[in-house]
Amino acid sequence: MSMAVSGLGPYDPQNVFAKILRGEIPCRKIYENEHALAFHDIAPKAPVHALIIPKGPYVSFADFSSQASDAEIGGFTRAVGHVAAQLGLEDAGYRLLSNMGAAAGQEVPHFHVHLFGGAALGPMLQ
Ligand code: 5GP
Repeated sequence: MSMAVSGLGPYDPQNVFAKILRGEIPCRKIYENEHALAFHDIAPKAPVHALIIPKGPYVSFADFSSQASDAEIGGFTRAVGHVAAQLGLEDAGYRLLSNMGAAAGQEVPHFHVHLFGGAALGPMLQ
């Protein structure tokens, strides 16, 4: 259950990533394990823009980090690394980002990590 600390409310099972997890809407899948699914972002902001999501109903990073089991956290974290390797980004490098809550610009209320790569991304904070 969500603690609703993110300004996004409790978990909404009708959010777009929940629908992707249930197979109700399609995605371009990259990788899947017991605890995580990875797919290409529908509106990429870099040559490679992947999204990695846990399979459990977590609104935000705050929910995921505090409520998910160690197995879920492990499976999710390993999925992120696997996706980067599968996409051939380990040598070139890549950027991970997660917007936590409405104030950070989180639009989809199911925790996700963005993975950007495929170009020189430059410094993030200037
Ligand atoms: P947020 O702003 O929540 O951190 O990022 C949400 C991301 O989900 C955005 O980059 C957006 O393009 C992506 N997105 C939204 N709807 C869909 C969808 O239906 N399919 C896919 N693959 N990505 C989506």
